[in-house]
Amino acid sequence: MKKNKAETGRPAPEGLFGPLPAAPAPAEKGGLLAFSYSKLSLYEECPLKYKFKYIDKIKEEPKYYFAFGSAVHKALEFLYSVKAPPFPSIEEVCEAFRREWNLKSYLEKGYRTQQRADDDYQKGLLMLRAYYEHNRARLAPPFLVEYSTDVEVDGLLVRIIADKIEYQGGGRLLVTDYKTGKDVKRQPAQLYMYQKIAELDPRLKEKIAENYGERVSEVRISRMLYYHVPSNKEYSFDRADDREIGAFWERVLGVAEGIRGLKFEATPGELQCKWCDYKALCPAFFGGHPHPPAAQAVPAAAERIEALVDRYGRLKERMDELQAQLDEVARGIAGTARDGAEYSGDSFTARVTKNHKWEFKDREAVINVLNQFDLYQKALTLTLSGITGVLESPSLPEEARKKLLEQAVRKTAVDIKVARKPGT
Ligand code: SF4
Repeated sequence: MKKNKAETGRPAPEGLFGPLPAAPAPAEKGGLLAFSYSKLSLYEECPLKYKFKYIDKIKEEPKYYFAFGSAVHKALEFLYSVKAPPFPSIEEVCEAFRREWNLKSYLEKGYRTQQRADDDYQKGLLMLRAYYEHNRARLAPPFLVEYSTDVEVDGLLVRIIADKIEYQGGGRLLVTDYKTGKDVKRQPAQLYMYQKIAELDPRLKEKIAENYGERVSEVRISRMLYYHVPSNKEYSFDRADDREIGAFWERVLGVAEGIRGLKFEATPGELQCKWCDYKALCPAFFGGHPHPPAAQAVPAAAERIEALVDRYGRLKERMDELQAQLDEVARGIAGTARDGAEYSGDSFTARVTKNHKWEFKDREAVINVLNQFDLYQKALTLTLSGITGVLESPSLPEEARKKLLEQAVRKTAVDIKVARKPGT
């Protein structure tokens, strides 16, 4: 039920253009809350952003990466929409990509210039050719492509759209989700949603009976894959166990409770605000920076501890996910960057500094070497810098250096200092 100011104890949020309208009821179909994985992740990113998009229905600006991903998905859908070989040729697949691409202008797709759109168009063609070549030998008609279904569960009407489902007999399914963005570490949460919902979906059993003449009492997801199209890499996840699915579902129900309870506090942060189209409406975003408004600075007293615990858990999970992505990107930069060099992207510059250091595996073995060559005193202290000083001393006998190096591992610490380019 909708709560007014008196019930929540908090004033209605203010936008830059005055008080924001009270939240209308969330989208319900026959008493069920319409839900999906993207709704889950958007609410977890920022509940207020969720409200702007799904409750107030304020349209976002088009995003070029969605347009690009959608055209590649369309081309792959075209490729796999055959009941039996032969499959379309690569030229026909590229034509399907072109058709989808040309449905909108570069501005409608979210590009700032025609040139950027043209570059991505060429990139898409190359990507599809590489995909086709890589998979040509194992092309097989899948069970379902772009399968969309809505399943009722726990007061929710949950929609999943699976890019590709293959049938492995005995009610077992393999689900593939195509990714066209950066090759970051994938978290299995989206796949948990496929598993939970697909296994409850009665239509899948009917479709198995129609397509394969097999009557199955249950459907089970045996494996799930993220397929990163730009690199042709697969990330395979085994079927999640009941504990994992249970924890994930608690997370879903927590978010659904927040939506039903009209809890739409802003959770500002550099990352989510950067790509948010609702900054001008948002009371938590002032002067180009995320900024928690005073009304939000003291939420704890007004909220139940259980809700705070859930929120803390969700934020921690997001933080772990972002940290994993950050580490992966930093490793990518460290692998190719030169020490002391500065690199420039569209919006940021980065100066990369590499520091080499030694680590010693076995303290006792190091002491033995130092004693053997009468170097113990030279080390002064048995700290890392003391031993490194001995190792790097030009007067160290070659034999002693060799033995110390046998105990040493050379590590490289990389420091990346980024700065936003002015005007971006
Ligand atoms: S600007 Fe930031 S805090 Fe405001 S709605 Fe967008 S993501 Fe949330």
